[in-house]
Formats: sequence, structure tokens, C-alpha cells
Amino acid sequence: MIEYTLNGPASQERARIRLMSALRENRFPQAILIDGPAGIGKKRLAMEIAKALQCTDPNMRPCGHCFGCRMADDSGATDGWVVPMESAEAHARSSDDVSAGSKAKTVEDFKKAYIEEIQKNPYRVDVFSTGAFISVDLMRMMTSSFAMKGDRVRTVIIAEADRMNESAANAFLKTLEEVPPDTYFILTTNSREKMLQTIRSRCLALHLLPLSDEEVKSEVLRVAGEDFDESSLTDDVIGLAVGSPGKALYYAEHAKVWCKLAADFVVHSLRGNYTDLFMELSETSLSDAYEANRFLEVLSFLLADLLREQAGARLRMPETTTSVGLANFPRVDATALELALVAVQETMSRIESRRVTATMSLQSLSLKLFEGYK
Ligand SMILES: [Zn+2]
Repeated sequence: MIEYTLNGPASQERARIRLMSALRENRFPQAILIDGPAGIGKKRLAMEIAKALQCTDPNMRPCGHCFGCRMADDSGATDGWVVPMESAEAHARSSDDVSAGSKAKTVEDFKKAYIEEIQKNPYRVDVFSTGAFISVDLMRMMTSSFAMKGDRVRTVIIAEADRMNESAANAFLKTLEEVPPDTYFILTTNSREKMLQTIRSRCLALHLLPLSDEEVKSEVLRVAGEDFDESSLTDDVIGLAVGSPGKALYYAEHAKVWCKLAADFVVHSLRGNYTDLFMELSETSLSDAYEANRFLEVLSFLLADLLREQAGARLRMPETTTSVGLANFPRVDATALELALVAVQETMSRIESRRVTATMSLQSLSLKLFEGYK
């Protein structure tokens, strides 16, 4: 019997055991949908599975050196991936159009660059911009490559599958209705609910769990480059990441500014120091909707931590939370904090819908925050 070994963090072992027994018993599903929070390693697991499926070693898979394993590791083997693209990139000349010796970028070039990024650090949460999507052309490119396979197993990883637009999703649904032999689809998403029910029901659902704080730390240090500043991985950053190495990396870069700003936001709002707060906000990059919402995530995290402080529970980001000095504001009780959390959530969806600018939304939030409790 062939032995299969999928590597990964201990917290996610249960999911891997399930997959390994399906592989061993030769009943691996033709399509699998891995879901779970952003940055916890869904693509990492997808790459492990692809390698195990493509490996041809008679005893131990993945062996790491057979042709199938090398293909799975080759960023140039772009047929094995479907990744979201910015709209300009999605229309880049296809490789057939480019005349010999031309330096023009093709869709394959962009894909190769993305795959390299993902292979270097599969936890990264900011590889694709919010506008990037999977077009029907990308789906067609994938299916047209089906003609030239030979007799080996083919795997296709569809990264951030919820970014398929409607026509791409419909095209993929057709493919799923008649999957070619020895072909496996591995989809990843952190927004399962955004995907077509008809696609979801045709995939085996695999929910991946967040990592422990210790694992987050060790995985970040393993994948971060040499110039990564280890001291930026504070307790507050680990707390904010909630089991996601990708988020920890993201916050290690941004959190210092945002944690302080979130604490100031609360204190200035409570004291009614709006001029100071608006000044501080104008010095940041929060006019960008995406950034503003990442900041508001930190702010809601802080509010939740202030609730924990009141309840005497363990704090997730102790440094920032205690810096607010909530004891100085005796009128702020649990209800005030819960209402504040709701106000932040509402502001986030307003910013996401782009009905008002991010700057204006943040300003009106600070006026509204703790209304009646100031
Ligand atoms: Zn192999």
C-alpha cells in the first residue's frame, strides 16, 4: 500500500488525517473546497495535496523528487493553477499572441509571478488586490490545457475561488459536471458563502482551523524573509492574528501605527477631541477603503478586548488595551462597548459598499462612537 504524508501545523492535523486516508484508500474526491479564515495556510495545504496526488513513487508520496513532485513545485507549470488577476492583467496578451523574442507580459507571466509569491509564502493575505477576480477566460485557459496531458495525474489549484465572476463560475460548474479522468480540483476560499451553492455541493468541504499562537509565531519566522524584524511580532500582533500567520505578517507591518491609532480613536472619541483625531487620521493612509477597513478590524478587536478587560478575561492585545485606561471613563459599561462594536461594523459595511468616502465614514464614526456615554 502507498503511504501518504501531508505536512503542516499540528492544529490542522485532523484535516490532514482525513485527506491522507482518502488518498490511501484511493477514494480522493475530484473536487475539494478548503475553507477557513484568511492566512491560515489553505493554499499551503492545497500545494501539499497537489504534490501527493501527482507523485508517482510506488511507496511514499509525495517523494519530493519524481517528475510529478517537481511539476507540482514548478512555478512555470501555470496550468496547475487558476489565480485571480487584476483586470488589466487578465487581458494581457496570451502567450500565443506574443511574437518570438517579445518582452510583452502574458497572462502566463503574471500567473508565474503570483505562483512564485504563493510558493515563497503561502500565508500571505495581500497577494491579490481587492479588485482582482477570476475571469471566464482564465477558466477557459485551464480547460483548453486539458487536451495535452499525457497519462499523468493532473491537479488544478483554484486560489481564492470566491473571486470567480458569474460567467467563470458557470463555466467551472460545467467542468465539474464532467471532470476528465485523473483530474483533481482543489479550491481555496475564506468566503465560502460567496460561492455558488451548485459549486459548493459538488466539492468535498474541508474546513481548516486556525493555528495556535505558538504555531503562528514559528510559521511566521519560517516563511518571513531574512530582513524580517522579529521584534515586530509583539504579543498584540499575535493576539490580533487569531491563529493566522498571514494576518500576523500583515499586522507586524501595520499594527504599530494602527494599534496606537485605535487606542487614540477610542480616547479622543470619548473626550470629544475631534480636531486632534481628524488631524491624526489625515496623516494616515486611511482614505483608502481597503486600508480603512483593516484599521477598523483592529478597532473592533480593541473594543472586544476592552469588553474582556471589564469582564476580567484574558486580553488578546494587552499592551494596546491597557493603554486606553478605561477606568478613567466610568460611564462606559459593557452595553456602551457593545453598541460601539455595532457602530464599527456598520461603518465597515458602509465603506465596503463605497457609498461614502472612507475618511468621512471614519469621522462620522468617531462622532457617533459612545453616543450618550461620553
Ligand atoms: Zn514524487
